[in-house]
Amino acid sequence: MKIETTAVHAGADIDPSTGAIAPPIHLSTTFEHGPASEEIHGYSYIREKNPTQSRLEEALAQLDSGEGAVAFASGMAAGVAVVQTLPPGSHVIFPDDIYVTFRRLARDFLPNWNLQSTVVNMQDPAKLSKAIRPNTKLIWVETPSNPLLKISDIRAISEIAHASKAMVLVDNTFATPIIQRPLELGADIVLYSTTKYFGGHSDVQGGALVLGNKNPIFDKLLRIRQVLGSVSSPFNAWLVLRGLRTLPCRMERHTSNAAAIATALEDVPAVEEVFYPGLPTHKEHEIAKRQMRYFGGMLSFQVRGGQDQATMVASKVKLFLNATSLGGTESLIEHRASSEGEFSTAQPNLLRLSVGIEHPDDLIEDLLQALK
Ligand SMILES: *Cc1c(COP(=O)(O)O)cnc(C)c1O
Repeated sequence: MKIETTAVHAGADIDPSTGAIAPPIHLSTTFEHGPASEEIHGYSYIREKNPTQSRLEEALAQLDSGEGAVAFASGMAAGVAVVQTLPPGSHVIFPDDIYVTFRRLARDFLPNWNLQSTVVNMQDPAKLSKAIRPNTKLIWVETPSNPLLKISDIRAISEIAHASKAMVLVDNTFATPIIQRPLELGADIVLYSTTKYFGGHSDVQGGALVLGNKNPIFDKLLRIRQVLGSVSSPFNAWLVLRGLRTLPCRMERHTSNAAAIATALEDVPAVEEVFYPGLPTHKEHEIAKRQMRYFGGMLSFQVRGGQDQATMVASKVKLFLNATSLGGTESLIEHRASSEGEFSTAQPNLLRLSVGIEHPDDLIEDLLQALK
């Protein structure tokens, strides 16, 4: 079955008690059990699991061809749960261009949990091989990465990792399973902030992990979520499930808009460099072509000059909104260095765009007038 069809039908079983086509939201925190606490209906308490979250998990697993999925309250909660499955003394390798809050996690939290970490340039497999230690348990990949849209070769990295018995996690938030399916390329775990494209309307927070066959950490993740309480609320799970029905359509439009903008920006004298994996000038364009169906709705570019020139452009847009986050229907612009703050590695003249689903002509016109 094609993924566009799966997106519409996954986790969409008709409600047996009413025949409702749209899935119900089960808000109940507790479920009837037997006199000796025997589970009767498959559920007992909301923090363990709830029916709406189960529907979402079933759908997410199908979209990535995974064996199972675990939904969380946020993308961060999902990522942290993976780190918390590691035994003390383990070593994790992170990429140099990464969602900034994971950089904070590595710097501020991992040492307290007796975990070590190293940052490497994942575009250089030799550097990655050299960074692996006997206790390396997890290699973290983010592709396309934030905010520079770097592309990492998931298949090559997975081979290197597995030769050393390390797991590979791919943060697939920018691509979504519509565009890139990391488990099929050899990765062990896929991470999503469903706050972004899955929700798709800038109105819900969530996260998820999708795991490949018989991943031994599956039960650990469920236990961590249950004990630490990072479950998705039923309402949020329902909104994410609703969002994924239109995900394939939206990703096509986000992508064609972003591609048109990237091409237009390349010709603007005030633009120094455009970072979009769909451009033939992108450093890892060949890898992107191999592992992505198309190239997504995120791009960034450097404005000639410095921070003042970049924030000037951000102040002159009329249609793009100055805001963080991504993946909604509306187009956003952000001066990433000031948004990321203390741990930022973003260039001072870098602007990031989350391209929405408006008409591309209007978006391009807006950027061109701001760059005049
Ligand atoms: C937003 C984001 C996260 C974190 O997700 P939250 O839902 O905000 O916790 C992780 N990775 C990437 C690439 C993101 O864009």
